[in-house]
Amino acid sequence: LEEQIRSLQTSTPRKYPKVKYLNYKNRKRILITGGAGFVGSHLVDDLMVQGHEVIVVDNFFTGRKRNVEHWLGHENFELIHHDIVNPLFIEIDEIYHLASPASPPHYMYNPVKTIKTNTMGTINVLGLAKRVMAKVLIASTSEVYGDPTVHPQPETYWGHVNPIGPRACYDEGKRVSETLSYAYAKQEKVQVRVARIFNTYGPRMHMNDGRVVSNFILQALRNETITVYGNGKQTRSFQYVSDLVDGLIALMASNYTQPINLGNPVEQTIGEFAQIIKQLVGGPSVIRQTKAMEDDPQRRKPDITRARQHLHWEPKVPLETGLKRTISYFRNELARSDRFQES
Ligand code: NAD
Ligand code: UDP
Ligand code: UDP
Repeated sequence: LEEQIRSLQTSTPRKYPKVKYLNYKNRKRILITGGAGFVGSHLVDDLMVQGHEVIVVDNFFTGRKRNVEHWLGHENFELIHHDIVNPLFIEIDEIYHLASPASPPHYMYNPVKTIKTNTMGTINVLGLAKRVMAKVLIASTSEVYGDPTVHPQPETYWGHVNPIGPRACYDEGKRVSETLSYAYAKQEKVQVRVARIFNTYGPRMHMNDGRVVSNFILQALRNETITVYGNGKQTRSFQYVSDLVDGLIALMASNYTQPINLGNPVEQTIGEFAQIIKQLVGGPSVIRQTKAMEDDPQRRKPDITRARQHLHWEPKVPLETGLKRTISYFRNELARSDRFQES
């Protein structure tokens, strides 16, 4: 065995994406909770390439090692299997707190756990930030606006949330997460940043997360019926993941402490969205209306005036470009899972 290990160690070294060299003054130790998930893993890539040290903490509920496997073994990277509901003692400069299931089927799977993650998990993150004097960015959501009565939604809108409905574990969990952040900021002088993230899509999205982007693309690729819940007149605004990651990094770097919407203001009805996907994927799928979702928000579109003003940020990737990249990712994933089944 010793021989074998030695020969492996001296054979071709592993290759990694190129990272910038940062001297110790500029290099930060950055914790990303939920870093093995969809958004988190893209954030890992950007921060690693910038030359920082990145520590991912994840319980792999919806995340996957595969999302970050290209960094495993890199000297600037660490992956810790840990549930953020339990305390965590490490030394870091910044925290991006993304740990939480995000799609309705995932966060409804175990509502109590969703609440614990967003309350106890956030308390642990804020307690850690307080002890080591780290800056924290909390990944909040447009769901804090519930089924909004104001359109588009500015950050000053307080929301319209059913506190005991099926989405409450997530919506109220995130609302408490925000409340906790400002309580720690005021009482304990923790530096907090709050991003209210709107629907985001892109490669590494969970294939079976039941969200509209993944469902429609998979249905179209498999020539199955595209299922529109309800009459399809409800709207969403979709942002590509690289735009979100740019916004998160800009927010962390800024001095702006109030909540800030990060989303793409181009709004679509879900019926129109089904047509767009069908046309981009091609194939014979038919679009059919099915049962409406309970408490489904009817309109959602971010007002991004604040992000434009304070972060000089706005989304850059057009829907069609982002969808083509996502469709190509899903196509490869399907081919890969077919190969697995054959072997
Ligand atoms: P995701 O499910 O891909 O990622 C979440 C990650 O958190 C996963 O890797 C999961 O395993 C991990 N996790 C969950 N519970 C945990 C726990 N108790 N301890 C440790 N790790 C845990 O989802 P995503 O789309 O990447 O979302 C990331 C964050 O952004 C979430 O906080 C989500 O609420 C927020 N957000 C996402 C969207 C979106 O459209 N993707 C929209 C609004 C807000
Ligand atoms: N905590 C943690 N890591 C730390 C510091 C604190 O996980 O480095 C946890 C701690 O276990 C506590 C929570 O964060 O449950 C809140 O910490 P805080 O200091 O605010 O509260 P206290 O410990 O006084 O209850
Ligand atoms: N939706 C749909 N068909 C699907 C999945 C979702 O019509 O197969 C609708 C859903 O009812 C909602 C919208 O698409 O109106 C967005 O749903 P998603 O679960 O992606 O995210 P949400 O914004 O509701 O959290």
